[in-house]
Amino acid sequence: MKRRIIMLGAPGSGKGTWSKIISDARKLTHIATGDLFRRELAAETPLGLEVKSYMERGALVPDELTIRLVEKALTGENAALGFVLDGFPRTIPQAEALEAILAKHGWKIDAVVDLAIEEDVLIGRTLARLVCSGCGQPYNAVSMQPAVEGVCDRCGGEVVRRGDDTEETIKKRMETYHANTAPLIDYYRERDLLVTFSNEGPPNEETRDLLFAIIDGDKR
Ligand code: AMP
Repeated sequence: MKRRIIMLGAPGSGKGTWSKIISDARKLTHIATGDLFRRELAAETPLGLEVKSYMERGALVPDELTIRLVEKALTGENAALGFVLDGFPRTIPQAEALEAILAKHGWKIDAVVDLAIEEDVLIGRTLARLVCSGCGQPYNAVSMQPAVEGVCDRCGGEVVRRGDDTEETIKKRMETYHANTAPLIDYYRERDLLVTFSNEGPPNEETRDLLFAIIDGDKR
């Protein structure tokens, strides 16, 4: 099914985990700006070098650079079949730019999922977060370890902690979220697109069914 979904939520709210589950199950393109930036950084491209200092200190990459990256990702062939935006938009100007990009394609967002979670849970979860350095598959040192420690179940890549998952950077990213990204909750509520999804525990069958009902448009 062709769906166009935005996943909103604070750092550690489960955006990456759920975006992967949804995009795999519904054959949608997963566009995660953080992953795209990390890939540029690892390859030491000019863009990677430009965004490095922002990412390392938990600040947002300037809108102009981020919007250009997403516009390119959305012009890919696969994106035409539907997508999950994970970590974008993160500011009101990004949301406005996204509307203009979608209008060019004649597309509309179907749902914006806000992953709501208590703030003290977020910090603990982010500090335990692990990720495959090969395919980006998320793991968690407490609740979601790969079958073999340090080795990705999907691609055999190395499972590591993210360089920006330190207590100091997480605090900064949380401040950035409240100042810049949280206003998007009202922005999308006013457009009648917002669905709040409580995501306190690790993914299970029940939460999965609930979220899929939202994604598939059965429940709002
Ligand atoms: P994430 O993997 O989504 O937590 O993103 C990691 C880092 O990438 C963020 O802390 C920002 O520095 C940068 N980043 C990712 N998405 C965006 C965005 N939409 N706007 C600005 N910066 C972003």
